[in-house]
Amino acid sequence: MKFFSTNRSAPQVGFEEAVVNSLPADNGLYFPEEIPVLSQQIINKLKAASLVSVGYEMMWPFVEGTFSQHQLKQIVEEVFSFDIPLVQVEEGIQSLELFHGPTYAFKDVGARFLARCLGQFSKTSDKEVTILVATSGDTGGAVANGFLGVEGVNVIILYPSGKVSDLQEKQLTTLGGNITALEVAGDFDACQALVKQAFLDKELNQTLSLTSANSINIARWMPQSIYFAKMALELSDPAALIAVPSGNYGNITAGMLAKRMGFPLGHFLACSNANDVVPRYLESCEFDPRPTIATYANAMDVSKPSNFPRMLELYHHSFDDLIADVDGFSLSDEEILRTIKACKASTDYLCDPHGAIGYAGLKEKLKVGQQGVFLETAHPVKFAPTMAQALGEELEIPAFANDLMKKEKTARSVSSSFDEFKAYLMAK
Ligand SMILES: *Cc1c(COP(=O)(O)O)cnc(C)c1O
Repeated sequence: MKFFSTNRSAPQVGFEEAVVNSLPADNGLYFPEEIPVLSQQIINKLKAASLVSVGYEMMWPFVEGTFSQHQLKQIVEEVFSFDIPLVQVEEGIQSLELFHGPTYAFKDVGARFLARCLGQFSKTSDKEVTILVATSGDTGGAVANGFLGVEGVNVIILYPSGKVSDLQEKQLTTLGGNITALEVAGDFDACQALVKQAFLDKELNQTLSLTSANSINIARWMPQSIYFAKMALELSDPAALIAVPSGNYGNITAGMLAKRMGFPLGHFLACSNANDVVPRYLESCEFDPRPTIATYANAMDVSKPSNFPRMLELYHHSFDDLIADVDGFSLSDEEILRTIKACKASTDYLCDPHGAIGYAGLKEKLKVGQQGVFLETAHPVKFAPTMAQALGEELEIPAFANDLMKKEKTARSVSSSFDEFKAYLMAK
């Protein structure tokens, strides 16, 4: 399969080059030249299949020619070493729990797939790869965990100082080895801008082999479609409303990809916190980013979602087609707290601050008789102070979190200046 740039002025490339480059030189995003539609026969066959089998069928057309069937099987088997259950929250509402992986957030799926792809590539190359990753909280931990100890790969994580939770910070600053954490004086968009600029800098790219582990990378982005497909096969309502807490819009666009591949997914609800550029776009057809606002759902504190071009591409740049498939919804911090408390009181289910936006979206938008699913994108304990504030009592802290909190943080403080960042990378 070839991948083209959404800006259409960079050459088409194969899977390996798209993964290793991460970003086309024209500053677009890679996108598959053709979206394979699985036959009804294959989809029926997958109804009772595992995540591994669904993942294999979905990813094969994209990696054919790069990996053997055996290699792909091995990769998906290693990725899905944990479950992604659909849990009943109340009549008509289910939660897709994406937090059962090693770093307790959905980003484990994409990060593990990407790490294993790069691990495969590095077997046939003697070049060291440097992974740059900007994180609003969960990506850093998932990537660090996925890549720890992978030979030939160095990981540099940029995170906004003071804007990730304590547990998230520990997940990305305590591993050591081939993982380095940079604590940036700035917000997530500043981190993302540094990484993007590094990819576009000729001199840096002549010196280092840079790869991104953000959802701009197709090997991070595409495998997220697998759990949407698996969920679609488990739902009894083909018109179900799927509420996806969104920041960079990688997760929801992966869901749209699964739908285009033939899986019965009803309607999407793009759920944002106060950083509501996409819900506003869906109302007005005007893309009007504003400065980032810090919220309790901090993994979604993004003002310019990097996957927005993919969303347009998935609907052939037709605003009418897009809004026929997706609605927007946004929730204030105050309402996030109130929703966590109300959901716990009426259902005994604990939503994290991101999932809570999805739950609130369903409560507002579900039609009579329509089923709804919201994606629980992270474990509530990753946001313990916010949870305590919402619930009026401390969360019970699981052992994994206590152990992690005892570890010592190692991070290098940097400014948001690109020149300084570049000098640091050149000296490596
Ligand atoms: C990253 C993240 C999101 C946003 O996902 P995108 O793919 O960036 O839209 C939502 N919730 C949590 C907990 C996250 O870590």
